[in-house]
Amino acid sequence: MRRIFTNIGSLLSWSEKTQSMEYSKPDRLIVDKERISAIDQQAEKPDEIIDCQGALMTPALIDAHTHPVFAECRQNEFEMRIAGKSYLDIAAAGGGIKNSVRQLRKISEDELFDRSLPRARNFLTTGTATIEAKSGYGLSLNDELKSLRVIRRLNEALPLQLIPTFLGAHEIPDEYQNRRNEYISLLVDEMIPQVAASGLAEYCDVFADKGVFTRDEAELIFRGALENGLKLRVHADEFENLGVTELAAKMGAASADHLLVISEDGISAMKNSGTVAVLLPGTTFFLGKQDYAPARRIWDAGVTTALASDFNPGSSMTQNLQMIMTLACTQMKLSPLEAWQAVTINAARSLQREKIIGSLEIGKNADIALWDVSDYRIVPYWFGKNHLHALWINGSKVIC
Ligand SMILES: [Zn+2]
Repeated sequence: MRRIFTNIGSLLSWSEKTQSMEYSKPDRLIVDKERISAIDQQAEKPDEIIDCQGALMTPALIDAHTHPVFAECRQNEFEMRIAGKSYLDIAAAGGGIKNSVRQLRKISEDELFDRSLPRARNFLTTGTATIEAKSGYGLSLNDELKSLRVIRRLNEALPLQLIPTFLGAHEIPDEYQNRRNEYISLLVDEMIPQVAASGLAEYCDVFADKGVFTRDEAELIFRGALENGLKLRVHADEFENLGVTELAAKMGAASADHLLVISEDGISAMKNSGTVAVLLPGTTFFLGKQDYAPARRIWDAGVTTALASDFNPGSSMTQNLQMIMTLACTQMKLSPLEAWQAVTINAARSLQREKIIGSLEIGKNADIALWDVSDYRIVPYWFGKNHLHALWINGSKVIC
């Protein structure tokens, strides 16, 4: 199957050759089966000619931090927060992550899959082709495996590509509240080995912050994950700096995420280790806060920086990376070009997939987005509108 994309208005993509984002006007882009085979060359015998009608073409978007498998939305907590209730008030009323854990434990795997499917499909509608997808609302071996199996089934059911992460260390479950060491042992001695043996997760993540897991606990969990062949990601430096970013960098984590209160030491540790910063401005925005991550300092220090939605029912109920780009530009002062880089090639780097996705170059997967704009800056500039015109994943057009 050979497809030729013609009448491309402009093409924005990372270039390996120049090591920068390039804005060009190729006459055509050629896709053979699932891969890009040529750009701007003549090609014979296409099976399909796609007239792009002057649209902007970019790589499909990549969302490197999401929590898409949950039972119920939490709009009641949204309303409470607006009315001035604190995190503790909401937790006392049965809200927060533990609310999602109770709801998820109540339903079967099939029910969880049925509820998660339309939400997962919705990523496609705004141009996202690949997501990192975390478990973390089960917090028992069976409920975590149930969540990870749902992620695998979503991956099989949809053109969306899901990269699974085990987040059993999202919170201490209620039944272990006064025995946290036992929960850490359960994670390290039973859950991580069984999750790894199941092949259902590629990464292991820890929410290491004030009131959740300590730096030392994170280190134990990371060691267990590495011993079992899982790679590392981490929720770090969101509320309080516990030195977790430095730890994650030292242990070779693929990414450290949030980073609102990252220190200069944390920034240099990431730069030296190659750990990617995944910034989540949607969370700061949704919680009505002002303390965005210091994206400019992180980027200017030379740390590879990605942007993600943090899609979850409590603190960031959005799947739209176009909106996340707007927030990155207006609140964190990334340029529109940097924001595009952060949701394409840099997001691919954080998922260690930069050789196959994240840019439109020969040999890469034909994950292609067409946008109803003439200029890449319009996507973050004209916010709240879905600018997606059409999406291809692995060379096939996605119908949502
Ligand atoms: Zn998260």
